[in-house]
Amino acid sequence: MSPEEECLSNAVEKGAVDMSYVHSLRGDFKDKNQLGNKGANLVSMTQLGLSIPPGFVISIDAYKKWRETGLLPDEDIKEALTSLETEMGRKLGEGLEVSVRSSGPASMPGMMDTILNIGDIDQINSAINRIFESWDNLRAVEYRRINKIPPTLGTAAIVQSMVYGNRDERSGTGVVFTRNPSTGRKGLFGEYIVKAQGEELVSGAQTPKPISTLKSTMPEVYAELEKVANKLESHFCDMQDIEFTVESGKLYILQTRTGKRSGHAAVKISVDMVAENLITREEAIMRVTASDIQGLLHKQLKTPEVYHPLAKGLNAAPGAAGGRVVFDAIEALAQSKKGVKVILVRPETNPDDIQGIAAADGVLTQKGGLTSHAAIVTRAMGKPCICGAEDINIDLVTRQFVVNGQVIKEGDEITIDGTTGSLYLGILPVEDVSISPELTELMGWADGFKRLGVRANADTPGAIAQAATFGAEGIGLCRTERMFNAPERLSVIRQFILAENAARQAEAIEHLRELQTRDFIALFRELKGLPIIIRLLDLPLHEFLPSEEVSESQVRQRIAELRETNPMLGHRGVRLAVTNPDLYKMQINAIEQARAEVPANVSIMVPQVITSQEALTVRALLKGSNLKFGVMMETVRACMRAGRLAREVDFFSFGTNDLTQAVYSFSREDAEKKFLSTYLQLGILQDNPFEVLDVKGVGRLMETAIFWARRGKKDIEIGVCGEQAGEPRSIRYLHGIGVDYISCSPYRIPIVRLVAAQTAIQARSGSSQAEIRGAETS
Ligand code: PEP
Ligand code: MG
Repeated sequence: MSPEEECLSNAVEKGAVDMSYVHSLRGDFKDKNQLGNKGANLVSMTQLGLSIPPGFVISIDAYKKWRETGLLPDEDIKEALTSLETEMGRKLGEGLEVSVRSSGPASMPGMMDTILNIGDIDQINSAINRIFESWDNLRAVEYRRINKIPPTLGTAAIVQSMVYGNRDERSGTGVVFTRNPSTGRKGLFGEYIVKAQGEELVSGAQTPKPISTLKSTMPEVYAELEKVANKLESHFCDMQDIEFTVESGKLYILQTRTGKRSGHAAVKISVDMVAENLITREEAIMRVTASDIQGLLHKQLKTPEVYHPLAKGLNAAPGAAGGRVVFDAIEALAQSKKGVKVILVRPETNPDDIQGIAAADGVLTQKGGLTSHAAIVTRAMGKPCICGAEDINIDLVTRQFVVNGQVIKEGDEITIDGTTGSLYLGILPVEDVSISPELTELMGWADGFKRLGVRANADTPGAIAQAATFGAEGIGLCRTERMFNAPERLSVIRQFILAENAARQAEAIEHLRELQTRDFIALFRELKGLPIIIRLLDLPLHEFLPSEEVSESQVRQRIAELRETNPMLGHRGVRLAVTNPDLYKMQINAIEQARAEVPANVSIMVPQVITSQEALTVRALLKGSNLKFGVMMETVRACMRAGRLAREVDFFSFGTNDLTQAVYSFSREDAEKKFLSTYLQLGILQDNPFEVLDVKGVGRLMETAIFWARRGKKDIEIGVCGEQAGEPRSIRYLHGIGVDYISCSPYRIPIVRLVAAQTAIQARSGSSQAEIRGAETS
């Protein structure tokens, strides 16, 4: 067996088959589903020859029987106790005391009871009862709910002879990690208390000393502990968290488990362990989680548990930032020019706020969901954002907001945590972003395994540069709306919309062409060879007009003409091009002019298509250009007509934001702030479909579309560029249904690279689709 294979088999820990309810720690039965993690690891450590206080385990099956009948396997327990007394050479109550601890198959640190210094059989029975009961104490139930641990798993109980860390000055107790859990650096890291029991360490009753104290006071014990740590690491092939007691100079190991670690440490430990030949590259990739990586790409609150949030909203864009409250884009710009950090607080954002968002360190909105303007823009910029914080009440006139009775004025300091959606008063300490050489190395390995292509949604040179640093293989969605929304463009597009005659309209279009050409040139320069898919304009025209209150009468009248009851289902996307071809013509022309100046691999894509006739209408505007041509699959009809549509285009890109809206008949703009949270709370829906792709509804439609698309055109390229494409469970699913690439915001690229590689590795090892995907949505 290779070292890696040996590790794998050690990790499974099954051992002999044994149907009885009570198992000795000296035996070779070590099934975690019966002994729990702690119990199985104690058996392994006994087998490794480490000094473990002798004892036995009452199995999880025994727990399950106890739950049904209230009965313990009394005879088996008595028998095991007699063997323990023989082994120890002491009788219970006459020099022998035992402890009883819980041991579940899932780690639930400190959630269940521990009972020490037990001296008679009745006490043992009531202690086992208490341990079993503690599986359902409030703390444990809540912990399982948060960590999604099934309540049916159950726990074992471990009875072990006591060792005393409080016996004398050469006694004590401690906890060590085999590597630093924050940095991942190899070497013992932990704490030790002299003359104390483990409980005093856990409860914080005594202040522990660094483990180096043990090195100076009892160097031989420290050296032995180091040896044990190495042995356990090479046995379990992972960083261990070890509890130990020293009794009169003799070291006992009470427990070992896989150590919890920071994202940074997770990456370093995995990469280092490959270099140490402990694990394979595949194993290294599988051990790092998407949230480990996410934590490395965004600033995080240092100790969020210490602070109480003022309010909660949707975790729209990850990261943490503190700054002074500002209520509009102008103030955000003015303050940031002075070097003041600001958080832009708005009822919701719209394209007019774009410069304010760019200037701010973070954004907080009272309304809007995970696909709202604020969410999409901040995610792309890598800025933290909380959306839909309905508990805050903004008054733009008095320039303050009220939250739970507290008044926050413009200029007051707040911190937002967009990773959790929490808002705090004051400036809280945050941790910086760190792209370590180990992360770069791990990402390189991931690329070697993944099948899915990974592109970015980016529409500024800055976002393209950021996407390239994170490893994007191209730009899968460049939304051109942003380019119209810059202040100097807005006046020109307004001229176009308000033009009283064709000549004035042509003048405005010409001006827009010049501006767009310059925009595209700047984008193409930043591409440095990467391909780009430019999506033609997808906004209803009224979005470019100012709000009604501030406008003159001519503008007011035009706004009234353009106003729609349901703009999201209205005159947008390709429909605008069918009635108003000049805008798309101008965009295509600007792309061609820019390409003539800076050669670039450009495709164009048309939004909101429902029929091949629309695609043909836009294609006709290309007039012999060799631009690759595709459509967004974001209407139900397009999906149902995918076979026919495929014949007219080079590629499809699923816009799962709009497609979800269409399949659910939920407005993207309204659902999250009005009723989705209630649906989620009541369990009517398990996930927000705008965040996690709805496999059973939207996914089914996509599968149908992909099937027919490939019948229509065998080699048609298929991508996904909605917000769900950067979410781990959705990525796993998209791999399975044969999508070619995923396009997401630049800051999600490393997560997609990792998860795409994990999925490919799992698929290769024969895992089923269901196993790969984990829990599905309802
Ligand atoms: C989509 O609908 O999924 C999409 C990517 O386009 P947008 O969010 O710009 O409508
Ligand atoms: Mg869309």
